[in-house]
Amino acid sequence: MKRVGFDWIARGLTRHPEIMTLSGGSLCPADFPAMVGVIRHPDAGVLLFDTGYDPAFLTATRPWPERLYRIATPVDFAGGEDWSAWLAANGVSAADITGVILSHFHGDHVAGLHQMPDAPIHCARAGLENLRQGSRLRRVTQGLLGALAPPDTESRARFFEDAPAVPLPGAFAPFSEGRDILGDGSLLAVELPGHCKGHWGLAFRDQKDRYVLLAADAVWSGKAIAQCRPPPRITTALLGDTGVYRQTLLALHQAQARNADLAILPSHCAVSAVAYRQDDVA
Ligand SMILES: [Zn+2]
Repeated sequence: MKRVGFDWIARGLTRHPEIMTLSGGSLCPADFPAMVGVIRHPDAGVLLFDTGYDPAFLTATRPWPERLYRIATPVDFAGGEDWSAWLAANGVSAADITGVILSHFHGDHVAGLHQMPDAPIHCARAGLENLRQGSRLRRVTQGLLGALAPPDTESRARFFEDAPAVPLPGAFAPFSEGRDILGDGSLLAVELPGHCKGHWGLAFRDQKDRYVLLAADAVWSGKAIAQCRPPPRITTALLGDTGVYRQTLLALHQAQARNADLAILPSHCAVSAVAYRQDDVA
């Protein structure tokens, strides 16, 4: 597997009780950062994995019923609202970005799409189709804000489902197959179903030879993976499919148990992000 450079950086956060994401969790509000992956490919430039929050999220959630979304998950930009400044602070120039990879279409993962008007969008067809269907109320209760996907998203989309299927290295077992996004085996999209329609993660090997699986929202925390502890049914049933979600969680738990060196990074887990970064500088 060709190695890629990788940074895992927050762009905004939300605050809500842990129990929404973990059965038996705390009722106290906890911070959930929206992580963005900055992937530096040796030949293909910089690709982002998701976009995190963006001021466009606030614009999209001003009217009703979309306002329900920001009430349920209030946003704190923590100084990261300006796109160019955020990129520059992380050593990226907008001109370097050659693509964006979307785990799924929830607002906290796609709000910054409009900042990259020319970039190819690697995503799931099933997720994009679901974004365009149903009433505004149905969509917002499922975390979807149609306005955040630019009108030309369909023409810029390169669907995971159409990419060649390739075997994953044994380090990712029991996950066995990925979709080769760039055709060189460096970035493999891995379906992680259950959180919502068209939900995928990303497998690759980083600059320190570590195998990394970006788990997006298949799980909210490293603690949930270690303990194989799902969110309450009310959360998973509202957004996706509880039975399928729990199968994916079990597979993540097994992958972590079998491969202690595999870095599994959920999109909203600050603890996993810090641990990954500390290993990076060690
Ligand atoms: Zn999310």
